[in-house]
Amino acid sequence: PPPPPERTHFGGLKDQDRIFTNLYGRHDPFIKGAEARGDWYRTKDLVVRGADWIVGEIKKSGLRGRGGAGFPSGLKWSFMPKVSDGRPSYLVVNADESEPGTCKDREIMRHDPHKLVEGCLVAGTAMRARAAYIYVRGEYYNERVALQQAVNEAYAKGYIGKNACGSGKDFDVVVHWGAGAYICGEETALIESLEGKQGKPRLKPPFPANVGLWGCPTTVTNVETVAVAPTILRRGPEWFAGFGRKNNHGTKLFCISGHVNQPVTVEEELGISMRELIEKHAGGVRGGWDNLLAVIPGGSSCPVLPKTVCDNVLMDFDALKEAQSGLGTAAVMVMDKSTDIVDAIARLAYFYKHESCGQCTPCREGSGWLADMMKRMVRGDARVEEIDMLYEVTKQIEGHTICALGDAAAWPVQGLIRHFRGEMEDRIGRASLAAEQIAA
Ligand code: NAD
Ligand code: SF4
Repeated sequence: PPPPPERTHFGGLKDQDRIFTNLYGRHDPFIKGAEARGDWYRTKDLVVRGADWIVGEIKKSGLRGRGGAGFPSGLKWSFMPKVSDGRPSYLVVNADESEPGTCKDREIMRHDPHKLVEGCLVAGTAMRARAAYIYVRGEYYNERVALQQAVNEAYAKGYIGKNACGSGKDFDVVVHWGAGAYICGEETALIESLEGKQGKPRLKPPFPANVGLWGCPTTVTNVETVAVAPTILRRGPEWFAGFGRKNNHGTKLFCISGHVNQPVTVEEELGISMRELIEKHAGGVRGGWDNLLAVIPGGSSCPVLPKTVCDNVLMDFDALKEAQSGLGTAAVMVMDKSTDIVDAIARLAYFYKHESCGQCTPCREGSGWLADMMKRMVRGDARVEEIDMLYEVTKQIEGHTICALGDAAAWPVQGLIRHFRGEMEDRIGRASLAAEQIAA
């Protein structure tokens, strides 16, 4: 593996630099506790400075979207029209967190919902939006209830609604309940679903900033991205940009699950090494680091990495891209040597087949092929040449579909072939030998 890239900070995040402090102490998530932790503190001062100032500060902070794609947030927010052509603008918060292994937005909505509601007002102001819709995944019942209570409290306090925070600006926040479909987390499928239609992705362009909710300018942004905005503005963009490495700034929530001693969601500095992250916060790999087989570093759509890469890799957008995977949602799924890695990836292939909306042929047919072929690979009921065929199917899907679900179905299988081809060949060899012995 390549040597680790240079970084600017070492030693991990200090408590005073954590944005989501209530994820650890777990005190009162509602208005009294939130105000005591500094939420809604002079929010008016942020709002009255206006859209251009907020966008400028977010650009300076280097914040990149926390939903998975890592698109620069200030740039994305700046795509919204500066002068209205008569259509209202909307902020839509993507709380349809469904990527397997990911549970960070869930923690924010459960324990720090006011950070999100305040973030809606601040980010909505940056977008010149009149209202925010928070689209929460169907399965998150408790989170929706907590969020709705926080929204009600913010209305009662005059923080949102007419003359929000005394800023002279009206701003509404609506919590919308999804019905539980992975594809509704794709931003244009989410918009379709909000409009009351089936959640099927739209072609882009036009991007939502031009034609979004009900044909109006819309920005769809992840919960964490919105929730960190007020703290960045209060503490200053330089503070946030001081964490991480060039082009990969700030703090980030990581969800660590699988074969670790203590699964956890934790806020850390971007660019922390994977090993340090797992050992410091999740109690290490079950049986010790040497017992590690592989890690999926950023939710199920990011290709799996073998231990040799995990030994040195840093947890940020660019380092993981260089390692031929991705930071994605920063959902770190750890697998020790007891894992049947072929079976694990086969289960992901089935997941994507099941969740495909069926709208475009490469994804609808290809994800089915991948799932069926992977099922045979698990049994060893395949020929070695079919591993190349499997790879070819992933290449026929990748980049040929309307939305990123097609790519997400292809990448885990590509990662398996790239790093665990030997295991696949062995299994096929063992199965053929067994079949010959039975026949004999
Ligand atoms: P994308 O790169 O297509 O877009 C990212 C964002 O930038 C979008 O909001 C898009 O509208 C905007 N954008 C990009 N180019 C633009 C342009 N030229 N003009 C205007 N806006 C532009 O990625 P995506 O399909 O939105 O997201 C894919 C990612 O989602 C994957 O990397 C995956 O990790 C993640 N994901 C997350 C979850 C979850 O539960 N959080 C679930 C599935 C997938
Ligand atoms: Fe639907 Fe898959 Fe096409 Fe996305 S890539 S639009 S999920 S069929």
